[in-house]
Amino acid sequence: MDFRNAWHRDTDEDVCCIACGDTVARSDAREYDKYGNRWNRDDKSFEYLCKPCYRENCHFDRTGLEDQLEAAGAGTVSRGAFLRRYQHIAAETEQTRADGR
Ligand SMILES: [Zn+2]
Repeated sequence: MDFRNAWHRDTDEDVCCIACGDTVARSDAREYDKYGNRWNRDDKSFEYLCKPCYRENCHFDRTGLEDQLEAAGAGTVSRGAFLRRYQHIAAETEQTRADGR
């Protein structure tokens, strides 16, 4: 049913869930890529979520997230500046969405 599972059964390493800190078998964890790009696997290490956290955390609407991150200067400005800008953009987006309802 979950086709992503079929990809990653090649290892039984333990990984740490970035949300709750639990250690879970890598085969039981879900990869989390903060760049939202699971297809480009070159040169990167994934972070992991345990299944309960994955279920909880994936209800968020990611529409436009990439654009927001880019607009906030992800990777080009300092972390502090990025976070301030992102917070501002995210707040505006939320406002826009609330108004649209
Ligand atoms: Zn977890």
